[in-house]
Amino acid sequence: MSGAPSRHVVVVGAGPAGLAAAHAAARAGARVTVLDSADVLGGQYWRHLPASRPAANERVLHHKWGTYRELARALHAHPAVTVVPSAQVWSLERLDDGVRLNVLVGEPDAAGREARTFEPDALVLAPGAHDRTLPFPGWQLPGVYSAGAAQALAKGERVAVGRRVVVAGAGPFLLPVASSLLRTGAAVVGVHEANGLGSLARGWLDRPWELVGAAGKAGELAGYVRELVRHRVPWRPGEAVVAAHGDGQVEAVTIARLDPRWTPVPGTERQVEADAVAVSHGFTPRLELAIAAGCALTPARFVVVDAAQATSVPGVWAAGELTGIGGADAALAEGAVAGTAAAGGDLRAAGAARTARARDRSRGFAARIEAAHGIRGGWVHWLRDDTVVCRCEETTYGRLREVVDLTGSRETRSVKLTSRAGLGPCQARMCGRTLQELLDDGGSGAGAPGPACEGPAPGVDRRPVVVPVRLGDLAALPAPSASPLDPSSSMTSLPTTSLSAASQPQET
Ligand SMILES: Cc1cc2nc3c(=O)[nH]c(=O)nc-3n(C[C@H](O)[C@H](O)[C@H](O)COP(=O)(O)OP(=O)(O)OC[C@H]3O[C@@H](n4cnc5c(N)ncnc54)[C@H](O)[C@@H]3O)c2cc1C
Repeated sequence: MSGAPSRHVVVVGAGPAGLAAAHAAARAGARVTVLDSADVLGGQYWRHLPASRPAANERVLHHKWGTYRELARALHAHPAVTVVPSAQVWSLERLDDGVRLNVLVGEPDAAGREARTFEPDALVLAPGAHDRTLPFPGWQLPGVYSAGAAQALAKGERVAVGRRVVVAGAGPFLLPVASSLLRTGAAVVGVHEANGLGSLARGWLDRPWELVGAAGKAGELAGYVRELVRHRVPWRPGEAVVAAHGDGQVEAVTIARLDPRWTPVPGTERQVEADAVAVSHGFTPRLELAIAAGCALTPARFVVVDAAQATSVPGVWAAGELTGIGGADAALAEGAVAGTAAAGGDLRAAGAARTARARDRSRGFAARIEAAHGIRGGWVHWLRDDTVVCRCEETTYGRLREVVDLTGSRETRSVKLTSRAGLGPCQARMCGRTLQELLDDGGSGAGAPGPACEGPAPGVDRRPVVVPVRLGDLAALPAPSASPLDPSSSMTSLPTTSLSAASQPQET
């Protein structure tokens, strides 16, 4: 029997977007490979204990757990789908007729991981986002966690980050974090949302008919509210943690009321005892692979996609948080559209068209999140000269100002090289956007409300080597003359551009 070989679709990311994309692509007849750096499927939303340590009550910590189970089961059972867990895509090279993914397979810090490459016919990028935390005095103290880390520990390890935890920042994500902390036995002292009731109402209640499709979200919200009420956890809009204090560990935080621009209102500060703080000010898409592929970005630094989730680069589709922060429902719908399109499926077919409509509704939801919970410029007023901005290199706000004064340059690259901010192990994942905004804004906090990173972007998200890679892994790769064993999945030579990038601090 012979026939045209089916299209090989590689999906990077096995969160809601990637799982839905892989499922849709397989249904549309493609051969599918799913790569995820985690050892279990599910991404951030369905982060759970591995099969070796199963939890009887896993379902309790997850919304749509049944959807996850069904997608995972279908992918594992499908003969044309290969799922590769613990597969870190560490770089992407552009070829004349497509892209090559360089992948290390094995435990993240283990020596001797297996090097593989993939040159797919179609690529779906669904790598999600990481959460963003604005700096404040004392945020480098042990006991200050990003809310995403607190959530990952609660859901993925059943560990609470503290006994008395303050949850603070901006966005609906604060609510599931508080809920997970309560379920892992922590006392949540309070949930503090930086945007006041006025901003929240303007963001959420403008054109309410557009929210009709998000009825499931309202149910989810009601569940969190009930939980906070049952545990007597106060939810306080228009407030922020503006400092953390302690001798070698968080012992207390200062909470202040904010004006609508997020400038702390003098005289409203109060100290609250806590041994941990979980802070999140939204999410930053993981753009490295999309940038390496050459995908166009929006002014707010998301990947530009068309109605079929196709990026500006032929053969590359994108879904999930990479294209906008809309939550798991949006990621699922976008993934299904992207997977169908990447496999060459028909988007006008009844099921696909329904999914596309669900995707369009979800995009409205993403816009609401930004309008209601977006970062406002006044936060710079809670910084002090000794506030650490880059935690890896311990660069302070005062040092940044000094460097700007000395060099007369507000250009991100110049300030990074002079101050070392953003050049440490995390390669500006944590501080890059903050640094850029401080330089763009001049520290006045006067930037207009709305998307944080509008305007031309100087590339703080560009990391040719996506994650730190062991020199041993790089050294073990075959010399450039080695011939590939299999064009779709083989050992390969290290791209010279990546080697030079790996051996020095990356500067963009
Ligand atoms: C830490 C964290 C926790 C979150 N927890 C919740 C929550 O509890 N509830 C909620 O409503 N929302 C949560 N969110 C928001 C959540 O990300 C989205 O709602 C949803 O999971 C987005 O789906 P996604 O498929 O786009 O991305 P994700 O679910 O983030 O999935 C992306 C996947 O891509 C993989 N990946 C990324 N880069 C690479 C690479 N280079 N190579 C290989 N694999 C890669 C990651 O390991 C991950 O599994 C969380 C976000 C973060 C950052």
